[in-house]
Amino acid sequence: MNFKNIDTACVQGGYTPSNGEPRQIPIVQSTTFKYATSEDMGKLFDLEAEGYFYTRLQNPTNDYVAKKICELEGGTAAMLTSSGQAASFFSIFNIAGVGDHIVASSAIYGGTYNLFAVTMKRMGIDFTFVSPTASDEELQAAFKPNTKAMFGETIANPALVVLDIERFAKIAHKNGVPLIVDNTFATPVTCRPFEWGADIVIHSTTKYIDGHGVSVGGCIVDSGKFDWTKYPDKYPGLCTPDESYHGVTYTERFGLAGAYITKATAQLMRDFGCIQSPQHAFYLNLGLESLHLRMQRHCENGLAVAKHLKNHPKVAWVRYSGLEGDESFELGKKYLKYGGCGVVSFGVKGGRTAAETFMKNLKIAAIETHVADARTCCLHPANATHRQMNDQELEACGISPDLVRFSCGIEAAEDLIADIDAALEMV
Ligand SMILES: *Cc1c(COP(=O)(O)O)cnc(C)c1O
Repeated sequence: MNFKNIDTACVQGGYTPSNGEPRQIPIVQSTTFKYATSEDMGKLFDLEAEGYFYTRLQNPTNDYVAKKICELEGGTAAMLTSSGQAASFFSIFNIAGVGDHIVASSAIYGGTYNLFAVTMKRMGIDFTFVSPTASDEELQAAFKPNTKAMFGETIANPALVVLDIERFAKIAHKNGVPLIVDNTFATPVTCRPFEWGADIVIHSTTKYIDGHGVSVGGCIVDSGKFDWTKYPDKYPGLCTPDESYHGVTYTERFGLAGAYITKATAQLMRDFGCIQSPQHAFYLNLGLESLHLRMQRHCENGLAVAKHLKNHPKVAWVRYSGLEGDESFELGKKYLKYGGCGVVSFGVKGGRTAAETFMKNLKIAAIETHVADARTCCLHPANATHRQMNDQELEACGISPDLVRFSCGIEAAEDLIADIDAALEMV
């Protein structure tokens, strides 16, 4: 069912029970599914009939939730994965292999950077990293004949740079490749990348979509708009028969709407098994039911905190796209419903030690590696994720020693600001 308003789709999308069926999505806690004849089952294996046979590939609970996220993003097909990392990996490995090349924004999540630059490089896939603010000419220069996709984050974690999705999509399409966007920090409630030309969206659902710090997960959504059949030599996996699936040609059998996700399910999920458990998918759906309400509050709190910090004498600098004067302010206005998200980065005057003192005096905001949660949390990278680096090394990767990543939850802004003020008082 398609709803006119995203708020309604958050609550009711993905699953429509018939007469007498459960109102809430059922948790199908079963690894396996029963059939009357081997012939029936054979048809499933040949992808000739639709149905479930083994939860390592697909499960009905997961599919209800994937369908809801698909509706929220305005896509044609979607799948859940066990984590955001699995979603990033699948989104590229589904269309690229040894000898291929990807152009990726340099303003991306550290885990994604590591996956691309180290682990996927070991699989023979090369990445060129480009600044999201590079000129069209500089972006163009990064493409090679073997480039298979372009990748970026709507709001970069933790740099908080907003991606110019429309501009990136144009350049990707000019080079005959899809644009893949990690929409984790924006969520479909505040930005729908397909409306700006992106072709594939991925999520770490662990963040805002779950929102309650209970389940690690990911999602991949296809817009169905990228025409793989225009480039059969570039995307043979989608445009020529798959011998591991009895000669199925995904674009022929499933059309542009279903080819990409069907291939990722049939091949990658079959072989890697990065499936989300049905129980986790159920939790995820509870998060989705209030996503539209929570995002509004996260963003209100983010802006209130950013504005307050901007005027605080003990704060050296603030990074928040919803803040007038921010480097990403115009892009935030264009692409994000509320101009930013709940995450604010800032520097405490006095550097590393001052940031440490500030952090340990917070009472409401908790020190966590997590981000984008209902409860306010914060991280001092120089003292946690990047603690092995000295100040010079930190600067080199764009993280100043005084940087605090402050993820506003859905508490009252007044309380968050009082907590910040009391902790800054101790610096
Ligand atoms: C956390 C995160 C990921 C990785 O997701 P996991 O669910 O932790 O595997 C990917 N992208 C972004 C933007 C993230 O914040």
